[in-house]
Amino acid sequence: MANNPYLADFPILARKVNGHQLCYLDNAATSQKPQVVIDRINHYYTDENANIHRGTHTLAQQATQAYEAVRDHVQHFLNAASREEIVFTRSTTEGLNWLARQWGLSHLQAGDEIVISLLEHHSNLVPWQQVAKKTGAHLRYLAANQQGLIDLAAAEGIINARTKIVSITQVSNVLGSRQPIKQLTALAHEHGAVMIVDAAQSAPHMAIDVQDLDCDFMAFSAHKMLGPTGVGVLYGKQALLDDMSPEFYGGEMVEEVTEQSATFKQGALRFEAGTQNIAGVIAFGSALSYLQQVGFEQIENQDRQLVSYAWPRLQKLNGVQLYGSNDPSDHNGIISFNLDGLHPHDVATIFDDEGIAIRAGQHCAQPLLHYLSLSATCRASFYFYNTIEDVDRLLAAIVDTQHFFNRHLSRESLI
Ligand code: PMP
Repeated sequence: MANNPYLADFPILARKVNGHQLCYLDNAATSQKPQVVIDRINHYYTDENANIHRGTHTLAQQATQAYEAVRDHVQHFLNAASREEIVFTRSTTEGLNWLARQWGLSHLQAGDEIVISLLEHHSNLVPWQQVAKKTGAHLRYLAANQQGLIDLAAAEGIINARTKIVSITQVSNVLGSRQPIKQLTALAHEHGAVMIVDAAQSAPHMAIDVQDLDCDFMAFSAHKMLGPTGVGVLYGKQALLDDMSPEFYGGEMVEEVTEQSATFKQGALRFEAGTQNIAGVIAFGSALSYLQQVGFEQIENQDRQLVSYAWPRLQKLNGVQLYGSNDPSDHNGIISFNLDGLHPHDVATIFDDEGIAIRAGQHCAQPLLHYLSLSATCRASFYFYNTIEDVDRLLAAIVDTQHFFNRHLSRESLI
């Protein structure tokens, strides 16, 4: 087994796919789960299962404590000012849709402007299109340069007094580039706009301090950071969350209900109607502990090492197109590429035959691909449990694939 101390903690990485040891390079889509997270789900259902907040019996109290402890954990993880600023959702997508519907619809008027970027995932784009249509607000875009970076000087020309919402991804899921969120936040605030951060790709890879960024809202998903699917976090400054209506009404989020009216709980619980993904949230706590044990310095180092190793070798191969920054330290583990003359889906299918999992397509970012004049890309995305051997397998698979489709070319001419 390759020399990576974390590999053994991820049982799925020991399995074979199509007769080959799995080489999992689709971490930007979802991460694999360490045994501690799998065990935590198992332990919850084996030993602790009860509904939270309502019961007075021992199991209900223990489950409530475990669930609420994760809220504290996330608060500290993000350096949020209060635990009430941490709302559990199902995903990044859900958090962003809530913001679009509950903040956007009630704070926007015809003529107002929403500013997003061309780098956005559809989750941080389509909800704003819908809100713009309903309110008459304009949806405006910040462009990115060839390196995948939003230009702050250009942003100064677009964010203005009409801007009410700026919503930007911290790391592009296609190019891996990290955006200047702190500066964009300051710019948004200068004009009285709220700043929303899509942290789906950043929260798994870097330490985040929401007070330092000063962003107003942030959304991310547990499943991309070792946690289970079906759990997300919506962070919001307390005064802003207090000013936002819940998306759902029902059990748990109410204080008192009469035949014709209801009063609601204060704080985060006002947004968590009905039975939540209790096991998922609790296991997410174990995922956060694991990530913190690894440490974000180590995670960023490993991202940088793997991309630094891969990038120049990919550049040297004939017929390989690479996208985004030429600086391997601005990829956050993500490499998008194409092989001349081959459709990315074909490439991904052939790699799969070798047990190598990559993603091919438009990565839920069609406007970005259109802007880059691309119809699709292959995407290899690393996490800290990936190894140099994984990169070598990717490189070898690229050469094999090109050779397979271009039999008239010698292997030597491809390398
Ligand atoms: N934003 C970005 C930048 C993403 O990469 C993703 C996931 N691919 C999402 C949003 C949506 O995340 P989820 O599917 O977990 O809601």
